[in-house]
Amino acid sequence: MKLHEYQSKLIFAQHGIPIPKGRVATNAAEAKGFAQELGRRVVVKAQVLVGGRGKAGGIRLASSPEEAEEVATQILAMHIKGLPVRKVLVDEAADIQAEIYLGITNDRASRCAVMISSAEGGVEVEEVARSDPEKIVRILIDPMLGLRDYQVRDLAATIELHHDLWRDLAGIARGLYEAFVDCDASLAEINPLVIMKDGRLVALDGKMVLDDNALFRHPDLVELRDVDEEAPAEREARKFGLSYVKLDGNIGCMVNGAGLAMATMDIITLFGGEPANFLDIGGGAGSEKVAAALELILQDRNVKAVLFNIFGGITRCDEVARGILMALEEVKPKVPMIVRLVGTNEEEGRNLLAAAKMITAVTLEDAVRKAVTAAGEAS
Ligand code: GDP
Ligand code: MN
Repeated sequence: MKLHEYQSKLIFAQHGIPIPKGRVATNAAEAKGFAQELGRRVVVKAQVLVGGRGKAGGIRLASSPEEAEEVATQILAMHIKGLPVRKVLVDEAADIQAEIYLGITNDRASRCAVMISSAEGGVEVEEVARSDPEKIVRILIDPMLGLRDYQVRDLAATIELHHDLWRDLAGIARGLYEAFVDCDASLAEINPLVIMKDGRLVALDGKMVLDDNALFRHPDLVELRDVDEEAPAEREARKFGLSYVKLDGNIGCMVNGAGLAMATMDIITLFGGEPANFLDIGGGAGSEKVAAALELILQDRNVKAVLFNIFGGITRCDEVARGILMALEEVKPKVPMIVRLVGTNEEEGRNLLAAAKMITAVTLEDAVRKAVTAAGEAS
């Protein structure tokens, strides 16, 4: 689950990280009022759950309340990367001397959190990572020891931060790590962490991604979810307890079990196709869940064929077949559908589907070949 900039920065502030003064507005008049309250130059910032808002024109400076109202009107009318802007953050504007990057994420290979930093932060940090990877510092954080002071000093020295700011950076780094751990985040990022003209360090932008699998122990954070800003497919998937990730290919996949789903995607790729999604319907999925999953797959206009790969264990093949039939009544798909059903009650499942003009297969290889061919013919 992604948090908005303003939500992330409030969490950072609770952990002692300095942030600009500001408030969130849902309309231009409110933005004007907040700019008036701040009584100085402000920055009006689109609150959408994607990066690159600055480059898209979603971050604008305003020198008067009237101008804040005007730019807020413009920003609130925007879509950024397809997402509508429904809120703007009105922050006091910063006089920036330099922009640093500071973030924490998980490094799965070393089974640690990793703190990443660069003296060249800001909107071009990805470009820096590509062209000058040596300008990006990485520090592994031992989960038993936590972030050590010497590590932060090391980091400060490597990014050649002025010595006067080391103590402040240490506080911010510690706060960021605390926020990361306390919230069960998979990402906590400040970009840019700015050195102001008056010498202070301030977190100008904030981003947090929380681990969905840990949300059950954070009821307060679950409330921060902004359903308006989620892709409709993701919302639907969550409602039915499906793990769904949209991808760019044209073969829709419905699989039970995350491992089997990944293997299915690999095999599709191996045979020259491209999966349109990852979808795990989970163990014991009943027919309603299957129907919801099929609708989700077919909502994607790129999908030219659907491959069902069901290993019936706890999930019974006849239940899945019934779900497919139920969904077919509602969605009337025009694309070919290939089914591989094996395991508990497979015979009954296959019989149910035989009537519905579905292409059946017994081995995964056979099923994938048929799906790749069908998708190829359709596009
Ligand atoms: P992002 O594009 O979504 O990452 O949004 P950011 O909040 O990081 O803003 C993008 C860029 O806009 C920053 O890197 C700054 O260069 C600039 N910016 C943001 N806020 C201010 C501000 O208060 N004053 C000035 N001068 N520039 C700002
Ligand atoms: Mn940013």
